[in-house]
Amino acid sequence: MSARNQSTTEIAEEMEQRLRMNPQGCRRIGNFGFIELEDSWGDEATILNTARISTTNNRLHSVADFSDRDRRLLYQLLRDQHGTPFETVYFRFRFIAPIFVLRQWVKHRMSSWNEFSMRYRKPISEAYVPDLAARSVDGFAVLDGTAMAEYSALMEQLFQWYEAQYDKACARIELARAEGHLPPKQGGRDPYRGRARELLRNVLPVATYSDVYWTVNFRSLMNFFRLRRKPDAQYEIREYADAAYALFAARYPLLSETMESVLREQEQHLASEAP
Ligand SMILES: Cc1cc2nc3c(=O)[nH]c(=O)nc-3n(C[C@H](O)[C@H](O)[C@H](O)COP(=O)(O)OP(=O)(O)OC[C@H]3O[C@@H](n4cnc5c(N)ncnc54)[C@H](O)[C@@H]3O)c2cc1C
Repeated sequence: MSARNQSTTEIAEEMEQRLRMNPQGCRRIGNFGFIELEDSWGDEATILNTARISTTNNRLHSVADFSDRDRRLLYQLLRDQHGTPFETVYFRFRFIAPIFVLRQWVKHRMSSWNEFSMRYRKPISEAYVPDLAARSVDGFAVLDGTAMAEYSALMEQLFQWYEAQYDKACARIELARAEGHLPPKQGGRDPYRGRARELLRNVLPVATYSDVYWTVNFRSLMNFFRLRRKPDAQYEIREYADAAYALFAARYPLLSETMESVLREQEQHLASEAP
């Protein structure tokens, strides 16, 4: 592999730093992937306090105050799809994933996205490389070692082409400046280099990694888990969804157990209705 560009080195260092700072809240995935549950707002008490707006002003302070009655109410609300109290708890995930995974993930519209832009920085010069488990179906490797060597070489060629073309474009811009054909560089983003980055990113494959902040409420997160942890979801997004779930469940054991019960019952109900 060629040398990493600056964006990639910085992001790799940041992943290492986050793993040191928040080891319980982070996971590495695949050859360059990462996910962290960076922050969350609200908890099971927030949900019940919201749901009881009409019936009581006695607030629960945390899940430690919960009685069996409170636990039962949490379950009933979720089972009976009382949606809005579950929209009052928020999660902020940071993840670094291939663009093809992002395209599936962004379909979960009930959430907020902020993604690394290749207009302002060079791309992450790492592409997803499926390991043996990812490229096997029932133990059969659908892409063999030769195909994988070519796959990696092709990705590498694209990143190298990007770097070489960007260097050439920058050299032409600087020469034109030196000769007085272009205005001197002002503060902020150089529009000429910026346009070169905008165009050159077009050649990058969907296996290229990108970097996202994802902010989502519990109702929508549950929908994401339901759809993307199922066996028919694609292997790669499933890996991220499973990691997101493990991070969430470690921080919210009661909510995750309640969710599991409700999802299991919904699955059983659907299975019993199937022709
Ligand atoms: C196995 C699998 C295969 C898939 N294949 C494809 C595919 O081939 N092509 C493709 O484009 N997508 C595909 N999808 C994506 C899928 O169609 C959904 O877009 C995605 O799962 C997000 O689900 P959602 O709409 O429930 O989530 P969100 O967008 O987060 O919405 C959450 C909920 O809000 C409500 N909602 C949101 N927006 C609206 C609206 N406009 N009107 C009414 N209610 C709304 C709905 O109740 C919805 O369930 C696939 C998903 C899975 C899991």
